[in-house]
Amino acid sequence: MFTLNLKEIFKISDRFKGSYTLQPSDIKLPPEIGEIKKPFKVNVEITKDKEGYRLRMNVEGSVELECSRCLEIFEKEVSQNKTKFLQNVPNEEGVFMLKPKDLEVTFMEEPDIVDIAELVREEIILSIPMKPLCSPNCRGIPEYELGFEEERKEKEHKKQSSFAILKDLLAKKGGK
Ligand SMILES: [Zn+2]
Repeated sequence: MFTLNLKEIFKISDRFKGSYTLQPSDIKLPPEIGEIKKPFKVNVEITKDKEGYRLRMNVEGSVELECSRCLEIFEKEVSQNKTKFLQNVPNEEGVFMLKPKDLEVTFMEEPDIVDIAELVREEIILSIPMKPLCSPNCRGIPEYELGFEEERKEKEHKKQSSFAILKDLLAKKGGK
């Protein structure tokens, strides 16, 4: 459905532009990475180059991730712009075609066939940090939720009792 046959496309044109809406079921993000709940908007522009194709892609959407500190689920916006070079897998003689030095290369498994959904999935995965945080100043799981409830109570009690002693002292002082 999101597969383009570039050979066919470039028979009749020298530039291809496409806009897509990809559903979560099209993207198939691995569940251990995150969950997609809303469709992604994708714009693609492809031009033919001597040794392959130049692809410009813009990916917009959001992914639900688990915060690595507090374990809460949060929504992360994804907004990626990428330019790539698409090439056919090098031929049997092992000849690698020249490619522009500054561009990342993606080899097309089937000659001149590109799967937009696959490229989008790749971009989304690349945009997700190894240790996602719900916010840069996430404070993590509160201590008492980690089974330190007793410790917390004890601390609180000590704090209260020293406060009580202090108050007592002040009262005596004031009483004199
Ligand atoms: Zn968090």
